[in-house]
Amino acid sequence: MKAEYIGRFAPSPTGPLHIGSLVAAVGSYLQAKANRGKWLVRMEDLDPLREQPGAADAILRSLEAHGLHWDEKIVFQSERHGAYEAAIEQLIASGHAYPCSCSRKTLQETAKPGPYGLIYPGRCRTGPADERQQHAIRVRTHNQPIRFVDRRIGEYWQRLESEVGDFIIKRADGFFAYQLAVVVDDAAQGITEIVRGEDLLDNTPRQIHLQKLLGLPTPEYLHLPIVTNERGQKLSKQSHAPALENKKAARNLAMALTFLGLKPPPEMTGESMENLLLWGIQNWSIPESS
Ligand code: GLU
Repeated sequence: MKAEYIGRFAPSPTGPLHIGSLVAAVGSYLQAKANRGKWLVRMEDLDPLREQPGAADAILRSLEAHGLHWDEKIVFQSERHGAYEAAIEQLIASGHAYPCSCSRKTLQETAKPGPYGLIYPGRCRTGPADERQQHAIRVRTHNQPIRFVDRRIGEYWQRLESEVGDFIIKRADGFFAYQLAVVVDDAAQGITEIVRGEDLLDNTPRQIHLQKLLGLPTPEYLHLPIVTNERGQKLSKQSHAPALENKKAARNLAMALTFLGLKPPPEMTGESMENLLLWGIQNWSIPESS
């Protein structure tokens, strides 16, 4: 028997839901339900400095208003620090992670730019270069290609050491990095397939690297097309994406479905969110790669 499908939507509460995040929510929901699976919601409230008060609650109310009801209790990353610390300790004990004292300034002066930001040059690999109190923790990378086959995009790979460099899993200010938390939680929640926006595609090899080092399974991946504004930028709080109006949920949901290639027929007008989503499940297929 095929193992149970468990999918998830993992928003960061940096602002309310917008049409771009609704597309990721609806896409992950339809893919889970079309596979007779569970759909979980995890609140990625890892970084209080980037959070907007009330946003987590607004996101959850907005999901409900759009008929997106989650299975199981919501996991809040702010309550999972013990699990992240344990993973960091495991990586340090096995020699895969190390403290790094490089400041942003040092890196700007010494690190070369790469396709995904500055490539860490390995300055603290053999011990922190200076004895500053506040150390970040980095994970060692290697240059064997890390490959996976995305269900929409196909094969994708990176050589982490030369393209990204050893990357941060715990910041010098004490906050855990997204890459670490996402890997620990996807495993803890038994996620079998990760469905999210294509903007996160190039993070995936880093996450697979951490899964391997921590002895965790690698789920399937499906990266969805992302909604952009007229300037081609991803919709986000930074690009001033307007918040979704819950009063217009039917219209928003129809827009998200249409973006995913499932334009509801005119006779669906006036149907409940639940019926629109049911129609979406019945007609769902993975959008084609552009
Ligand atoms: N919390 C991340 C975001 O909102 C998404 C994480 C993920 O889906 O892996 O961009």
